[in-house]
Amino acid sequence: MDFPVEGGCQCGAVRYRLTASPLSIYNCHCKDCQRYSGAAWSISMIVRDADFEVSGQTVHYDRVADSGNVIRMNFCAHCHGWMWNDPPAAGIKVARAGTLDNMDWARPVGNIWTASKAAWVEIDPTLVNFEKGAVDRTPLFDAWTRSQQG
Ligand SMILES: [Zn+2]
Ligand SMILES: [Zn+2]
Repeated sequence: MDFPVEGGCQCGAVRYRLTASPLSIYNCHCKDCQRYSGAAWSISMIVRDADFEVSGQTVHYDRVADSGNVIRMNFCAHCHGWMWNDPPAAGIKVARAGTLDNMDWARPVGNIWTASKAAWVEIDPTLVNFEKGAVDRTPLFDAWTRSQQG
């Protein structure tokens, strides 16, 4: 896959450029993602801050997770499309892969929070899957790296 790639919100006011490969892409089946996306899961794309250039005005909401961590969620200030989260870990953002202009290359390598997935969602057992959150994302990063070498 060649970088940079671009993405943005529905109205076009917020645009971003991803200048290098993400660290991983995986599905999140947590209840918060279900509520925010309106879908059975959301697709998380872990990017380095340094590789993620944003233009346009955003607004944020500080969500308190079950862990007690405050996760800043960033939205387009105009259309309120959900763009990315700032997790407690420094140096990375969790962007929504569905905002990519073209997500054909962005095939998820795993699933987290499968314990709260919808009963009818089938999880591919050959992927890197976690029943709850991935406290250590290294297995998801490694799986992404392997998938890009194929
Ligand atoms: Zn917008
Ligand atoms: Zn989630």
